[in-house]
Amino acid sequence: MLVTQRLCPYLRFALYEMREPLPTSARRRRFGNLLHAAIAAYEQAGRSLEQAIETLARGAAELPPEDAREAEEILRWRHSIRRDAPGRSLMNEGPLRTSVAGRRLDARVDRFDAMGGMRLLAEYKTGLRAPSDLLSTQFTVLAYAAWRVFGQAPGVWEAEFLRARQVVRVPAESDPRVLERRVTELATSIVAGDRQPRPHQVSQCPRCPARAFCPRVTRMPRPFSRTPRVDPQPALL
Ligand code: SF4
Repeated sequence: MLVTQRLCPYLRFALYEMREPLPTSARRRRFGNLLHAAIAAYEQAGRSLEQAIETLARGAAELPPEDAREAEEILRWRHSIRRDAPGRSLMNEGPLRTSVAGRRLDARVDRFDAMGGMRLLAEYKTGLRAPSDLLSTQFTVLAYAAWRVFGQAPGVWEAEFLRARQVVRVPAESDPRVLERRVTELATSIVAGDRQPRPHQVSQCPRCPARAFCPRVTRMPRPFSRTPRVDPQPALL
């Protein structure tokens, strides 16, 4: 929710306060979910390609054949770069529960590794790229939650762009005071009810799933189909 607030406060409002069932790509979601599950199985089994392929095979019937093939190629590519990688996995697809600005914060990390005394936070992306400041916002929230739960902020942030077969290091912030200030600012804007249609980048509006409801881009916005949640913020992320 915090990252969506950064993307656009009105989109966050439509999704999490009005709970509008906005259109999403079921095919992309299935592909991402299955790939995440196969990678988690791989890491949990000590970087076992066999486990990853087995997990993929169990869910592959849900995917079009070209997506199943692409997922398997991604797993094999990952294995070629991860097989002898340093460090060991401490958490895979794991929940992090903490709080910020007096509200509960539920986050989920894709992978959290120990590399000697250093900690590495990794996120898997099925898109080909992501705006660097949005990526940084996502890592900031996760690094804050990791610091609160484990007592140590990760010093390395890594985004794996799976379809692009690229691992990108994102400049990491490991000062807990800076992490806390940034996350608190975002959380406070939600708690204060900021729902301005203020896109992070104007170019995202034509593809926005909330555009039919949005007063910024639609002359007669469609009314929401549900009533607002009584407490819009039981969880912030
Ligand atoms: S169309 Fe643009 S301004 Fe409106 S909710 Fe979407 S991102 Fe925000």
